[in-house]
Amino acid sequence: MKITESQIDFNNLLVAYFSMEIGIDSKLPTYSGGLGILAGDTLRSAADLELPVIGITLLYNKGYFRQIINEHGDQIEEHVDWNPNNYLNPLPNKVSIKIEGRDVKIKAWLYRLNGITGKVNPIIFLDTDLPENSDYDKTITHHLYGNDDHYRLAQEIILGIGGVRVLESLGCTNLKKYHMNEGHSALLTLELCRRESKNKMQKAREKCVFTTHTPVPAGHDQFEKHLVENMLGDFITPEIKGGIFINNKLNMTYLGLRFSRFVNGVAKKHGEVSRSMFPGYHIESITNGIHSYFWTAEPFRKLFDKYLPGWECDPFNLRYVLGVPKEEIWKAHLKSKKKLVSFVNKKYKLDMDSETFTIGFARRSATYKRGDMLFSDIDRLLKIAENSKGLQIIYAGKAHPKDWEGKQVIKRIIEAMRSVKHKIKVCYIENYDIDIAKFLVSGVDIWLNNPLRPKEASGTSGMKAAHNGIPHFSILDGWWLEGHIENVTGWSIGSHPSASKHSTHEEEVEDLYSKLEYIIIPKFYNERDSWIEIMRHSIAINGSFFNTHRMVQQYVLNAYFK
Ligand SMILES: *Cc1c(COP(=O)(O)O)cnc(C)c1O
Repeated sequence: MKITESQIDFNNLLVAYFSMEIGIDSKLPTYSGGLGILAGDTLRSAADLELPVIGITLLYNKGYFRQIINEHGDQIEEHVDWNPNNYLNPLPNKVSIKIEGRDVKIKAWLYRLNGITGKVNPIIFLDTDLPENSDYDKTITHHLYGNDDHYRLAQEIILGIGGVRVLESLGCTNLKKYHMNEGHSALLTLELCRRESKNKMQKAREKCVFTTHTPVPAGHDQFEKHLVENMLGDFITPEIKGGIFINNKLNMTYLGLRFSRFVNGVAKKHGEVSRSMFPGYHIESITNGIHSYFWTAEPFRKLFDKYLPGWECDPFNLRYVLGVPKEEIWKAHLKSKKKLVSFVNKKYKLDMDSETFTIGFARRSATYKRGDMLFSDIDRLLKIAENSKGLQIIYAGKAHPKDWEGKQVIKRIIEAMRSVKHKIKVCYIENYDIDIAKFLVSGVDIWLNNPLRPKEASGTSGMKAAHNGIPHFSILDGWWLEGHIENVTGWSIGSHPSASKHSTHEEEVEDLYSKLEYIIIPKFYNERDSWIEIMRHSIAINGSFFNTHRMVQQYVLNAYFK
């Protein structure tokens, strides 16, 4: 049933949330990884909490790619054909924007996001694939993170400037805040300035909230001054020209920083790292979360419904899981594990089983995440498996099409997988997406994460696992610095960042193996009771806090309405 547009009162919306990607459903291939999933979870929680928030992003007519891994371990990328008409409603509103002197028209599509209490919040997808646009301009909203700087800047112009214009045309006249989820949408600040008659910058600044996500300087988008001037023409007025270029570049992070009254990093540690990267700016932190109900699998949803009624509206209730009988925790876990095991067995003709200790690792394949770390010393891993009652490993994750190194990591995992074949069952699930993530974060026994410090701004999949009672085993970086209690919510790998001497890669590999061998695997097989105690604490201590309901409430109190 199509709900009529009149049910959304654009005039009453107070916050516009801008993100280059929004992951709302695996059928809408408009996201690539953590940033998009966070945006989707944030908007879901806002709707559940009945907050008047509108999301805004690009449509990506060609989707993010479908991943196939061939017999050599190479990633093959395929276009995703999808029909926006099946999920979104085209809106009659069109706005235009001048890029390189051409008038580029933008059309808006509406997605209705249903909150748990029936509140419907809008998400707007911007689309330039229109007959009246030039061939090039039609492609601007085709690919997520595709092509060159010119293409990327065109996309950011559509998102930031086009986004503000579309909101206006929809009748969003009471917006109090414009929240930039990462710097991609930061051009919106200039459009807001342009609309003011005096004290432009100060007035725009009052309305802007900026969340930075990248703890490495190279990860921040920047564009050459001449490219920006060519593309935006007289939009770059003499008035702003003097203030936005640094070393002849437009750095989107600095734009967000300078024009926002509230700026935050996505975990306490990331706030610190950001403050040292951008001295002189006031940067707070609001630690990320995930949407509790969305990421909790059916068996645990039922268990929580039985013992913790109301948990889905108020995930703080998850702290009371400590009173739920251990047998029931284990039963719920086994149900999800069996589902995952039968999924991989069927799809890849394997013979995994639901008794064997199973490690999960799934993320975008970027080199700093060190996806193949577990295979650093294959003989050692084989020995660990041999000396225990068995070991299974399940991987997933796409590499960006242009990330050759990331693809090599996948290739090395596939090669290692072959070499341990008869002793350890390993599976690499292709085409990691929201649906596969749901299987994985509920169906393995432990969630492994071993990024290179301090590159993990937050990380979120360990939070999804925690909601399903799955302990976390990770480098002390990002959110894990806040969620880690050794032997209570999981285990650390390597040194604490406050230690006088930081662990090296080799020491971290050693720690990974020895904890698996001497602490984690023996506990799993021989001390089931104490293992389930850790499962309960993962939910009680980490599920109850690392969720987007808590996170959105912090944005409301500290950033939106302060
Ligand atoms: C949660 C999720 C991510 C992000 O995981 P991180 O641990 O934050 O890197 C990426 N892709 C999918 C499909 C996810 O569900």
